[in-house]
Amino acid sequence: MDSENRAFQPPQDAHDVPASELAPAPRKPITRRDVIRYGVTGAACAAGGYALVGYLVDAVRELTAEGVFKGDAPSDAVWELWRQRSWAHEGYHYLKLGRNVQCKICPNNCLMEPGDRSHCRNKINRDGTLYSLAFANPCAFHVDPVEKKPLFHFFPGSQSFSIATAGCVFRCLNCQNWEISQKKPEETKDPRGPELRLRPPITGGISAQDVARLSMFPEDVVALAEWTKSASISYTYSEPTAYYEYTYDTCKLARERKMKNILVTCGSMEEPPMRDLGKYLDAAHVDLKGFSEAIYWKLNTGKLQPVLKTLKTLQSMGVWFEIINLVVPTYTDNPDMIRRMCDWLVANIGPDHPIHFSRFHPQHKLQTLPPTPVEILLQAQSLARSAGLRYAYVGNVPGLPDAETTFCPNCKRAIISRDVFAITGYDLDAAGKCRFCQTQIAGVWS
Ligand code: SF4
Repeated sequence: MDSENRAFQPPQDAHDVPASELAPAPRKPITRRDVIRYGVTGAACAAGGYALVGYLVDAVRELTAEGVFKGDAPSDAVWELWRQRSWAHEGYHYLKLGRNVQCKICPNNCLMEPGDRSHCRNKINRDGTLYSLAFANPCAFHVDPVEKKPLFHFFPGSQSFSIATAGCVFRCLNCQNWEISQKKPEETKDPRGPELRLRPPITGGISAQDVARLSMFPEDVVALAEWTKSASISYTYSEPTAYYEYTYDTCKLARERKMKNILVTCGSMEEPPMRDLGKYLDAAHVDLKGFSEAIYWKLNTGKLQPVLKTLKTLQSMGVWFEIINLVVPTYTDNPDMIRRMCDWLVANIGPDHPIHFSRFHPQHKLQTLPPTPVEILLQAQSLARSAGLRYAYVGNVPGLPDAETTFCPNCKRAIISRDVFAITGYDLDAAGKCRFCQTQIAGVWS
């Protein structure tokens, strides 16, 4: 048990992300020749007018797709090692466009010619087929309290078996896990040497070298979650959107085995894959990084609208979710923006989904910014409550009284008290009602 209760780190040969990757990729002008070039598949199915029109609209979107790594797919030798380990898996939700492929998992909509690598670094076009290189090869795993996700209204006090692979769809300046999120799978894993498949029981320690070469297939993840007596599996640390196929297959199997699934995500996913995955999700933690398209692009190279769409999709599917908002000085600490964000949440998903305002600490590309002043976080919490959000927390400030306490929205008494990740007071009944006034508290309690 001790062995997997450590955080595993990828090999320490990390180098920083080139600044050029942080700039918006230049958008190509769309020419008639481009449409014809990428339109092989569309033209073939375009005998009917609407199909062609629809396809051409799509083609225009495809050609605005953001930067892929040209010609950066693994060499034949590395590919062969990857294939032998079954770490390469054909992608889900993608289009074949002649010999080109386009991923439709996230709004980056990566369009790849043969030999290209995706923006998230995890996918390649190999001879006209899209493959994920991030399958069954986690570079980090750990057993965490569910409060660490953070999820405060979902099986409080339970443990979650947590996994991650390399890769991410964003380029956040403040990323706290950039050593894995801004890496290729080949920079965190090493398929040379004898195969090591991690399955219970685990006896003895596991070294960083072991982690680099081990495989963990979906059935192994579920077995390890059961063996560690975890109530759930969390797809986390980097970004599960970028290892969608591994997440999807594991979620599906976990559901069959009555294990809960938690998606810890930036929320930047297209609706069809979100709906497919949502069928197997029990909870999600969604990073709502701000409420401005300009800031989303500048801070995260992402877009706000797809994240808002994901919140609505999860809501419509009945998946429990909580929102985290990292308050970054000079980027996302504007009170007016926070107020507008909270108003949108109340109007569109209702008052019951908790919001966690989290304190920024200097890291990655934002080393020169100060930590978020506590007064700003308390102001954000107050704005959320004034907007009508019933459960607003302040995170990452140890020792701040009641920052992470749940109060009954009716009688206002403290009903769940927490000290970091430990539950220190609990006054809900088995059905999730306040013991003092019987008000139902939103969440998944048993
Ligand atoms: S998931 Fe990765 S490959 Fe797919 S569109 Fe997003 S960044 Fe591109």
